[in-house]
Amino acid sequence: MDNLSEKSLQKGIRSLNEWIDSFGDWEPDDSLIVPEKKVNEVFTRLIERLKCNYPFEHPSYAGQMLKPPHPLAWAAYAIAMSINPNNHALDGGPPSSEMEKEVIASLARFFGYENTYLGHLTSSGTIANLEALWIARESHPKKKIAFSDQAHYTHGRMCSVLRVEGLKIPVLDDGTFDLDAVDPEDIGTMVVTLGTTGLGDVEPLDQILPWAKKHGIRVHIDAAYGGFFRTLKDSKLINGTAWQRMQEADSIVVDPHKHGLQPYGCGCVLFKDPEVGKFYKHDSPYTYFTSDDLHLGEISLECSRAGASAVAFWTTLQLFPLEEKTGFGPILSNCRSAALTMYELTNSSSKLTSYKKPELDIIGYFPTEASTLSEISERSKEIFQKGMSDRSFYLSLYKISAKSFTKRHPDFEVDAEDVTILRSVFMKPEHDNFVKELFSRIENCC
Ligand SMILES: *Cc1c(COP(=O)(O)O)cnc(C)c1O
Repeated sequence: MDNLSEKSLQKGIRSLNEWIDSFGDWEPDDSLIVPEKKVNEVFTRLIERLKCNYPFEHPSYAGQMLKPPHPLAWAAYAIAMSINPNNHALDGGPPSSEMEKEVIASLARFFGYENTYLGHLTSSGTIANLEALWIARESHPKKKIAFSDQAHYTHGRMCSVLRVEGLKIPVLDDGTFDLDAVDPEDIGTMVVTLGTTGLGDVEPLDQILPWAKKHGIRVHIDAAYGGFFRTLKDSKLINGTAWQRMQEADSIVVDPHKHGLQPYGCGCVLFKDPEVGKFYKHDSPYTYFTSDDLHLGEISLECSRAGASAVAFWTTLQLFPLEEKTGFGPILSNCRSAALTMYELTNSSSKLTSYKKPELDIIGYFPTEASTLSEISERSKEIFQKGMSDRSFYLSLYKISAKSFTKRHPDFEVDAEDVTILRSVFMKPEHDNFVKELFSRIENCC
């Protein structure tokens, strides 16, 4: 944690303690008091156990989708957590509920829902997608929910939770959906992923929107991973066409705890039509109401939720606006640029090559000193392990079907049904400076 965040944290907690004390003197009960020696002993053990993590903050970590939250975001989170507000009902945390409404308004505006919207934070992208698919089912009770074969596995799983039929649509070589393979009459909602979890692919929203409109099909965008890349929609750094049309979709999911600098526990679902609020109706005798204002618990499937998440995200958006030239834009453009540099480096290397050109900041690549698919898999796993045991780099592995792989790389003998390659997620802006060093460490292992 940097100095400024640490100071802000200490100042915040102190000031809130003074505020609590202003209600009059009181002492914590003896039952809650622990001897200092015991505290020190347990915390020492705790810290040692936490050191068994991979170094997520360090740029040598380019493995999974793990991005360190901004220290100011978790300082704000920790300050709020000292009060522990609950954003279920307004009474559980009036200021944090207000802040949640403000960040939802900012996100709705950011995604282009200019006039109307309904939405709230969730504890994750999974729950946010569950709500969107639930509304999809309620809107078209007898129809299927379709998604591509590269969509996050949560969509198939949640279809089974919701007892609605999920339909997997093949993706063609050019990245479009194989719509000839489906009968639009069967489909109530189409899921389009902007930034797939595997390799950050941006699915063809352009193709789906007019088709869906013609057939009265809802469109749900899963931008849990990619959403914040909309800050770059008008830049030359990414292909902006899908990002520019997000406002035409019926619902959008984004995870501030992925690219939004937030600690875990922060997803978000947005609906374009506030009318869908009618599906959430409940008549709870437990929920307390002190005003006519909307309670977030009335439009959310989850009940108790950390108000601290809203506080942290609100603070972050004050400091890092959702803009191209300032705030989030420069962070994401560094991530994107790191992936492009890795693409060039692997393609000019004699030992590694990229699987395909990255669309965002995730890239797949593999060692080329191999003649069969199983040799590529074996070598990839060795490099992956070697980096970790030397503590010099941290990557992830990614499995691709032999069929897809050989379409792009026909020169390897097919002796297995799939092939495992290396994958890097460049979620940290520091990756842009570090990527050359990272690449040479990996190449030296080949
Ligand atoms: C991460 C992710 C999810 C699931 O979100 P969680 O916050 O991990 O529950 C869903 N869809 C996509 C595209 C994702 O990347």
